[in-house]
Amino acid sequence: MQNFTLHTHNNELRFDGYADAKTMISSAIDKGFKTIGVTNHVIVNKVLDFDRNIEPMFFNNFKDATECYKRHINILQNLKQEYNIDIKIGFECDFFSSLDWRNNFEKMIKELDVDYLIGSNHFLKSIDETFLCNIYHLKKIPNRPDEETIHQYTINHYKNIIECIKSGYFTFIAHLDYCTIFNLGVDERYDEYKHEIIETLIKTRTPIELNTSGYDRIDQPHPSPWMLETLAKSNLVPILISDDAHDPTRIGKYFDKAESLLTKLNYTNRFTLDMLKTKF
Ligand SMILES: [Zn+2]
Ligand SMILES: [Zn+2]
Repeated sequence: MQNFTLHTHNNELRFDGYADAKTMISSAIDKGFKTIGVTNHVIVNKVLDFDRNIEPMFFNNFKDATECYKRHINILQNLKQEYNIDIKIGFECDFFSSLDWRNNFEKMIKELDVDYLIGSNHFLKSIDETFLCNIYHLKKIPNRPDEETIHQYTINHYKNIIECIKSGYFTFIAHLDYCTIFNLGVDERYDEYKHEIIETLIKTRTPIELNTSGYDRIDQPHPSPWMLETLAKSNLVPILISDDAHDPTRIGKYFDKAESLLTKLNYTNRFTLDMLKTKF
């Protein structure tokens, strides 16, 4: 059984968990984990249009974002002395592909003392990124795009995951088909992009997570079992199990179920803690 959990959130500063870092760490200790990785969201893009009261963790400039992330790292570093569990510090970073974003992101990460980075994609987007909408907010936005436009934006979302993998920035990639919990990108029109994601992972040997948060919503993990099966056959993509816990009750949730699935698929290439690193 995997004795670490590397994708967890909390509600320190402006982040979107439901409990503070101490509560999340204590829960990981109670559940017998030897290592917890704390990975709040990095979401920075100059075109993000949002109400800061509703979405406090979005940033539209890297300067403010860097300051916030540094403060968060300080909080966690102070907690390291207090607990009898290995605390790793990471971030779950939304990837954007423009050159401007990449340059700023690279510069920012060099200033942050982190153990690892999770590559993530939560946005529907136009190719030029003048339209960006967190999938979670799609139902709430005024002027929701029509279905055909959403279809195109969903393709762009999958293509963005491919670019995210190719960037080489990330220690592992989160919840590959996250959009399916919102019933987006589900049908066979998207299969070619999912195959391309799989091919890119294999070619680059980029690790991924089996994210258990989908079990409650759609009775499936991310990525879906057929994608896992294909990746298992290649045996070239290391995998870890993640809970993506935003509250303490979800730490380690469904890890047993995920272990059984990986055993059934004969998925033997498992991510280990010595693979934790950043390229920066
Ligand atoms: Zn996520
Ligand atoms: Zn997450």
